[in-house]
Amino acid sequence: YAGRCRWFGWRGHEQPESNVTLAFTATVLGSPRIGPRRELKKAVESYWAGNLDASALESVGRDLRRRTWTELVDAGIDSVPVNTFSFYDQMLDTAVMLGALPERVSGIDSELDRYFAAARGTTTIAPLEMTKWFDTNYHYLVPEITPASRFTLNAAKVLGEVEEALALGVPARPVVIGPVTFLLLSKSDDRAPLDHLDDVVPLYAELLGLLADTGVKWVQIDEPALVADRTAAELEATRSVYDRLAALNHRPAILVASYFGDLGDALTALVETGVEGIAVDLVAGSLDHVVATPGIEGKHIAAGVIDGRNVWRSDLDGSLTALETLRDRAGSVAVSTSCSLLHVPYTLDGENGLDPALRSWLAFGSEKIREVATLATAVRSGHAAIGDQLAQSRAAAETRASDPRLHDNAIRARLAALTDSERSRTPAPDRRTAQDSELSLPKLPTTTIGSYPQTTAIRVARAALRKGEIGQAEYVRRMRAEIADVVALQEDLGLDVLVHGEPERNDMVQYFAEQFDGFFATANGWVQSYGSRCVRPPILYGDVRRPKPMTIEWISYAQSLTDKPVKAILTGPVTILAWSFVRDDQSLAESADQIALAIRDETADLETSGVRVIQVDEPALRELLPLRAADQSAYLDWAVGAFRLATSGVADTTAIHTHLCYSEFGDVIGAIAGLDADVTSIEAARSHMEVLDDLNAVGFDLGVGPGVYDIHSPRVPSVDEIAGSLRAALGAVPAERLWVNPDCGLKTRRRAEVESSLRNMVDAAHLVRAEH
Ligand code: GLN
Ligand code: ZN
Repeated sequence: YAGRCRWFGWRGHEQPESNVTLAFTATVLGSPRIGPRRELKKAVESYWAGNLDASALESVGRDLRRRTWTELVDAGIDSVPVNTFSFYDQMLDTAVMLGALPERVSGIDSELDRYFAAARGTTTIAPLEMTKWFDTNYHYLVPEITPASRFTLNAAKVLGEVEEALALGVPARPVVIGPVTFLLLSKSDDRAPLDHLDDVVPLYAELLGLLADTGVKWVQIDEPALVADRTAAELEATRSVYDRLAALNHRPAILVASYFGDLGDALTALVETGVEGIAVDLVAGSLDHVVATPGIEGKHIAAGVIDGRNVWRSDLDGSLTALETLRDRAGSVAVSTSCSLLHVPYTLDGENGLDPALRSWLAFGSEKIREVATLATAVRSGHAAIGDQLAQSRAAAETRASDPRLHDNAIRARLAALTDSERSRTPAPDRRTAQDSELSLPKLPTTTIGSYPQTTAIRVARAALRKGEIGQAEYVRRMRAEIADVVALQEDLGLDVLVHGEPERNDMVQYFAEQFDGFFATANGWVQSYGSRCVRPPILYGDVRRPKPMTIEWISYAQSLTDKPVKAILTGPVTILAWSFVRDDQSLAESADQIALAIRDETADLETSGVRVIQVDEPALRELLPLRAADQSAYLDWAVGAFRLATSGVADTTAIHTHLCYSEFGDVIGAIAGLDADVTSIEAARSHMEVLDDLNAVGFDLGVGPGVYDIHSPRVPSVDEIAGSLRAALGAVPAERLWVNPDCGLKTRRRAEVESSLRNMVDAAHLVRAEH
């Protein structure tokens, strides 16, 4: 690294004259950390299992950080985010930095174990709650603030990583989550979250002094909470925080980073403070708004033109136009990503199975880093300096636009011809009569959400098929054995509506994406979802078609084994989109309708094969809800419309179920009624059935199965406990509409737990049934 040290020789302590001499030209807002081959996942899981010691884990982390920084520096990034590494989560890291871990972990001696206890819990300690990071698929841990919280600065992690980076000659820009976002995203059991600003801002001030001592020129303070709707008081508080921090005389230059949307009025508030720089998301946010904001001529703007959330290659011409417009207005401009690269896979290298055309349209993390550097070169030295790259970018855009797979005329004609009648069914009461006589179920019918435990046998069979050790026929034989087993179990338990158990599904989205035309799967496109958990989202690139039925064989096999109705399980259009990388050349609404049509065709085939109950899961309905209230009703309209398109093609006698989970449903409760599903099973065990009152408040009068026990815990609920939940539910819902089911699918549970829990659930249903 000797050469690099000289290269970045400005790491002295000379006082720069103005922002402009300080300003960097090319950066990213953050980096993935799970490891190009999921090294960190493997290491932390080995540590948890007791097979790796703390120092070995630390050294895996150090090695990953070095590789991340080296790649950035080598590509020409001249300000490198540091402290975006984490053993679990950046919000948890911030809680540690501010001394805000919950009291209940304080008895654990080792700092690392205390950290993991807060993240995952122990046999005796409950973990922090986890929830979605804005509208992404990343989940963060929700810090808890109580009257007992005593904030103190613990800067060891950030200072350590800064020292490590500086020692390697990296032009480090430490990144921390800002006080406004930290508090707004925390759970506060006493005052309004921002009432704690006076407790934490002095700690940030202290931190800035310590960072200045290290010699770093910039600090990045992330405030993504500012892209959601904020009250005038919150904006005022934000302004005052950054006035206070900017007024410190011993500190690095401050870059306040926003991402996932437009800053709106918060931009003016920030511009009026003394911070040197602001990072703006120009993919999800608006360039016009930034350009029109008075005062940006005094700021260094990190222009997020490269999409950190999606996988498409950038249109370099468009990005350059934006950058040049901004350069004419802002004090200075750096090319940046719209958000951290945490949300995209590491690299296209090694994706050898990808269709070459598709590959040329894509950019994962490494490719995006090079795009940033390329654009910075053009901003500095003119377009001619990147002539080759411009030509390649244009060529890729042209082949993409003209690829026939992106425009299937038959599908488009079908969609264009749709009328409202394809999105509506006979009124619900008439359907209920038809379904009652078709299915003749008892009162308080019992069912499950779809999946049964993913056994070792299932995993072994799937791996063997992938490696070619067994053929398709043997794989089918083994899956059928699993189905037969699960059907027999359900018969034995006395459940009323059975399922096949979903053994053949690796993942509820991937399973369908693999069978649709218009999706591609990656070999190694892993993205961190939370902690050590990674997902490999499929890429939606073209018009969606269902070449053949996807579920019929499995479901009809299950149905052949029993006289009870077997409920088929499909995944809904919104959830498929939410857990995929999506097209950026058409609206989500259009993509959703295409998927909905394919699912509708599947429901028709299921019906023909004799299936009388079909569940279309939409657990991610809440996930894609836009951050700003003004955008939410348009979203809910198309999301509900797509669900109805998918489910309105069946006869009145066919019962449509849906399943929702993972959220407080507050903002989407009206939409749930709009789905018009005959039965909705919904996560409720942890919220004490409150969701039923919320549903009543919006006039919901369809079937509902509030989860009667929490499947996220290995604990087996007693008959009394479940009966108690059912009686509570009957306070809100008449017996004719109430279904009995667990909270969610059972695939993560062990077989013995499932059997005991369901036995108690069925017993409780019988008990309460007898009372009605
Ligand atoms: N049918 C799916 C299952 O039972 C639903 C999963 C989910 O809600 N996330 O696993
Ligand atoms: Zn669920």
